[in-house]
Amino acid sequence: MRRSLPSVEQFVQGIRAADRVLLGQAITLVESARAEHQVLAQAVLAQVATPTPNTLRIAITGAPGVGKSTFIEALGMYLIERGKRPAVLAIDPSSSISGGSILGDKTRMEHLSASEKAFIRPSPAGDSLGGVARKTREAMVLVEAAGFDTILIETVGVGQSEIAAQRMTDLFLLLLMPGAGDELQGIKRGIVEMADVLVVNKSDGDRNTLAQQAQGHYRNATHLFPAKSSGWTPRVLTCSALENKGIAAVWEAAEAFKMETEATGFFTKNRQIQAQYWLKESIESGLHTHFYQHPQVRAKLAELEPEVLAGRLSPTLAAQQILQILFPK
Ligand code: GDP
Repeated sequence: MRRSLPSVEQFVQGIRAADRVLLGQAITLVESARAEHQVLAQAVLAQVATPTPNTLRIAITGAPGVGKSTFIEALGMYLIERGKRPAVLAIDPSSSISGGSILGDKTRMEHLSASEKAFIRPSPAGDSLGGVARKTREAMVLVEAAGFDTILIETVGVGQSEIAAQRMTDLFLLLLMPGAGDELQGIKRGIVEMADVLVVNKSDGDRNTLAQQAQGHYRNATHLFPAKSSGWTPRVLTCSALENKGIAAVWEAAEAFKMETEATGFFTKNRQIQAQYWLKESIESGLHTHFYQHPQVRAKLAELEPEVLAGRLSPTLAAQQILQILFPK
């Protein structure tokens, strides 16, 4: 990051004018752990955030190798042709371990990353899933303020990051492999149940029959799933991201979902529930950070921890004594 940062006003104007450099810098601030960056980031966010952005936020997940980046590239290019402005963000908590993320990697979305109409950002790093997800959510607010109208949030499909992605998106899209059977997919049933649109990718060449088998399998399976609070019936489609087939039908399902849930009021209600969740989540993480940074808390913890480890004091009583420092009875 440059030594002298742009002012709040410069950031706000730049983002509103869809200046990609300033947008990228603002996201870097959101992702930064430094206190002065956070102050600036929050000031920018407060000014640019739109109360009810007319955007569609889609979580895209699936096992590694299923074709997520190929699919996002195909869908993104399709959206651009239709006059949309897609942005690709990612939630990958493992990126903090590996030091770099493959999700949202530009080199994997060659055409999309070259387009002026699209914006791609890899997953932020972070110590916790909560932290990574919060940064992605704030990056989403910034890209929406810059005029990107279709937000694709990529996750890797093997764990908790899907739940975090669901909590910031309107629609959950799951990519599947050709061939029936959950074992093959490496996807937990709970994640399959979260999906609004299930897409069997790689439906091309000699995989066509297997893709249709998977489609039949998942159509049957979705009939047995509990009804969704959105009232939406999941759709199961096939596509070939590589050959650019079936992408229009996927988009048609996404638009149908938006229309249907907007008509029932669920779309807006769901975003409100999400805002409520992020409010609580931010309070909890703020409490956590401030609590453990408090000098008296640290001193008391250092004093009592050995007592607990030696079995002379119960964890519950020790916790009570420590909590009392900030929350006296
Ligand atoms: P990701 O790990 O889920 O992001 O998967 P990638 O998009 O990197 O794709 C993994 C592999 O599957 C690559 O070799 C792709 O070329 C291939 N692939 C992706 N989509 C398709 C498809 O629709 N058909 C076929 N035949 N291969 C595909």
